[in-house]
Amino acid sequence: MSRLSLIAALALPATLAGQATEWPIHSMERPVPIVVHPGGPALVPPPADAIVLFDGHTLDAWRSNADSSAAAPWRIEGGALVVVPGAGGIHTAQRFGDVQLHIEWMAPTPPEMDGQNRGNSGVFLMGRYEVQVLDSWENRTYADGQAASIYGQFPPLVNASLPPGSWQSYEIIFRRPRFDAAGKVTQPARMTVFHNGVLVQQNVALLGPTTHRVRSPYEAHDDRLPLSLQDHGQPVKFRNIWIRPLSERP
Ligand code: MG
Repeated sequence: MSRLSLIAALALPATLAGQATEWPIHSMERPVPIVVHPGGPALVPPPADAIVLFDGHTLDAWRSNADSSAAAPWRIEGGALVVVPGAGGIHTAQRFGDVQLHIEWMAPTPPEMDGQNRGNSGVFLMGRYEVQVLDSWENRTYADGQAASIYGQFPPLVNASLPPGSWQSYEIIFRRPRFDAAGKVTQPARMTVFHNGVLVQQNVALLGPTTHRVRSPYEAHDDRLPLSLQDHGQPVKFRNIWIRPLSERP
């Protein structure tokens, strides 16, 4: 950490200092966000121009990560899309760049195990930039890996989690990274996230794709790629998933 950034970090309130990217990845010393009990999930029905990715009835919009030509190997139960542990992740047949995404999820109850193995899944924009899904209700883990973190990079501003067994919501506004002809990143990916209606990520500039234990540099990729959901071995549920492609940012 440079002297200037150290001074800047010290001058910030604890919650903002916790956002400093100088922290080693997955540091247990990094301050965990304060808990803010949300009023409840933001259950937003799809607006007229949204592409509905899951409406409770069909997995037609999804494919298997293991084999893109195969149907998504998760199951539908009571109108919810449920991770089948060991079946692997799934991704959309359609590809997206800049988007607004709404998704609702539920961690299993009663919770089993703890830390990163309690209700872990993930929403991967373009298959590479993860907003963490985790049961972060009274479940200590590293700050950059709790619910609504940009995994391995940015903890949420606050912990707005609801208990396991409750539906929770994410609103994600994502701007894809831009690359020049040589493949060098000219504009990083950016994300704004609301967790249960509470602002938890504000236009953060991602450091690169989100990866485990190591911060990976950007690598040039297509302007549009599938959205994917993670199988981390726990039967997390999803519902009411819709997406709105956004026009180019100014
Ligand atoms: Mg995850």
